[in-house]
Amino acid sequence: MEYRTHAANNFYAGIIKTYKECDFSFIPIHYLKEREKQYFKRFMGEAKTAIVLYYPVKNIMDWTWNCPDGTIASETCNIDERAATICKDIQNSFITNSINTKIVPYPETSGLQFRFVAIAAGYGEIGRNAHYLHPQWGVRIHLRVLASEIQSSLLCSIKTKTNKVCLQCNRCIDTCPADAFKNGFDGLQCRRFRKNRGEYIPTGPKGILRYCKKCVMVCKAGKNNRKYSEKSTFYKTAQKDNREQTNTGN
Ligand code: SF4
Ligand code: SF4
Repeated sequence: MEYRTHAANNFYAGIIKTYKECDFSFIPIHYLKEREKQYFKRFMGEAKTAIVLYYPVKNIMDWTWNCPDGTIASETCNIDERAATICKDIQNSFITNSINTKIVPYPETSGLQFRFVAIAAGYGEIGRNAHYLHPQWGVRIHLRVLASEIQSSLLCSIKTKTNKVCLQCNRCIDTCPADAFKNGFDGLQCRRFRKNRGEYIPTGPKGILRYCKKCVMVCKAGKNNRKYSEKSTFYKTAQKDNREQTNTGN
């Protein structure tokens, strides 16, 4: 059974109204799969609800990761900074209302796969490219997660059918330079290929990480991406970035 939980009171409605550029899901912890449930138990035993923030990526440069202090530990990008600020605002507003709420650290450090929390809401799916696909924004979405002790009874759940997003076009598979989709997605193969190209080494004064984006930039899944084309700024910028990456041997 698929669910997406929607705001059932002014508290949630206020959040949605304030941050119009984002989308949210409020998922009772018991909806999650065992692995994610266990994560929340360790992270915040009293948490009853996982809140997923979906931030649309309109400009790929804002989604380019960099390391301000030159180390991978400081990895950040404009969109993640904006999303983290929104999470902080939400956390403060909950805490002001005596509702304990914590921001889950970004996956690299937390170990929680945000995409699996998002699909527990029945909203979107994991595409063939192994990325989370949002019904409107497809692969061009950045996720953040909060854990809150807010009662799930304050939420209402409605059944939705928004979990068929992938177009099964195989463009991501055909474009992959690492051949990482031979038998389903092989994350290690992708990582190995990228490591060999030096993608995990910050480059230039801003410490930019030139991650491969090929399986992202060819994906047209998501309603807002139907008109997406090779003429779009998003595509051209991403293509330029990949070309430079190839030229520099990174
Ligand atoms: S990021 Fe690049 S190497 Fe990795 S799966 Fe996607 S296209 Fe292949
Ligand atoms: S490129 Fe096609 S097959 Fe791959 S995830 Fe996107 S819609 Fe699905």
